Amino acid sequence: MSNEFLPFSRPSISQAAIDEVVDCLKSGWITTGPRVAKFTEALQTYFDAPYVLPLMSATTGLHLALLAMNLEPGDEVITTPLTFAATLNTIVLAGGKPVLVDIDPHTLNMDMNLLEAAITDRTRVLLPVHFAGLPVDLDPLYQLAKHRGLRVLEDAAHAIGTEYKGKRIGSFGDTQVFSFHPNKNMTTGEGGCIVTRDAQLAEQVARLRFHGVDRQAWNRYGKSGNQDYEIVLPGYKSNMTDIQAAIGIHQLNELPGFIARRNELADRYHEALSDWLQWTLPKRPDFEHLHSWHIYTPLINAEVAGMDRDAFISAMKDKNVGTGLHYRAVHLYPYYRQAFGFNEGDFPLAENVCERIVSLPLFPLMTDAEHDKVLDVMYTVFNENKTI
Ligand SMILES: *Cc1c(COP(=O)(O)O)cnc(C)c1O
Repeated sequence: MSNEFLPFSRPSISQAAIDEVVDCLKSGWITTGPRVAKFTEALQTYFDAPYVLPLMSATTGLHLALLAMNLEPGDEVITTPLTFAATLNTIVLAGGKPVLVDIDPHTLNMDMNLLEAAITDRTRVLLPVHFAGLPVDLDPLYQLAKHRGLRVLEDAAHAIGTEYKGKRIGSFGDTQVFSFHPNKNMTTGEGGCIVTRDAQLAEQVARLRFHGVDRQAWNRYGKSGNQDYEIVLPGYKSNMTDIQAAIGIHQLNELPGFIARRNELADRYHEALSDWLQWTLPKRPDFEHLHSWHIYTPLINAEVAGMDRDAFISAMKDKNVGTGLHYRAVHLYPYYRQAFGFNEGDFPLAENVCERIVSLPLFPLMTDAEHDKVLDVMYTVFNENKTI
């Protein structure tokens, strides 16, 4: 097979989505309009949720949802150190203080046993992240939230298609944010959405995402629309466009197929790598779930492998195989050290994982031959590139 560079992720864009984008461009309406309305309805049906708000990104979704939860300066939001920086950045941008609990080293999700001890009288929101598309154990989390009067905002950026005990993430609970970035389970180019069962939160986000206007633009400019509007607060500009929604409408239909292929590829890695001592493979919890396998993330055992994670990533790249790093520990970035006094050793299990974790190539269009190539190249790298 060819020796072209194999990326760790690549979006699957169908001809139907391309045609819909072209139709949208030719229609004369390219910003928020009928296609966003159609995509919104499709998402409401998919999630069986009363309120879905498509947005420019999941980052803006986390930000606006936290603003709509009315954080006061110093209010605490509890989350995990094993996440993308946006999870913590948006807590700070919304006026909150990020409080972290270490991870369960098996599931790589927030350790439920540490959660209760992290709650103080300033805690307002629990913000779990469904890492890699494996659901957080939500029953005990929601029980705790109810008992302590806390809101729950699920960072479900990895988890469209994930199920917890037979229910889709987004189909129950308080509020969820999904990402449609090109590397995620489905895409709109850039984009995301908030799903909620809280009418007031939905209404507030609808204003915040569009200048603080109480009505959508296409109502104002359409034939039946009313040109007049009120500004009820100083809002942002976070609305999704019809060009994005044109892609999303088709991606959502194709999502079950994407998730099925992601599961096949993850199972294939699992089988092939189960006796490689260089890796500690992802583990699954006992509760019933459907993993969406947004990323397949083994941990390198550097002593056995003869190289650390960074050396592995660079050796793979030299042999034309891209891998991902999800993530470096967020609390150790300069801003978080300086602003909140985080340090090495604060969350030792997450720090250990963040030193060893690698995302192997996994995307629905990946062929079995490409999958075999990744395994072959890894085999070669482990034999040829020992540095320790
Ligand atoms: C990708 C991601 C985000 C941000 O999503 P965008 O749509 O790129 O803004 C937030 N949290 C996590 C865990 C992510 O992986």
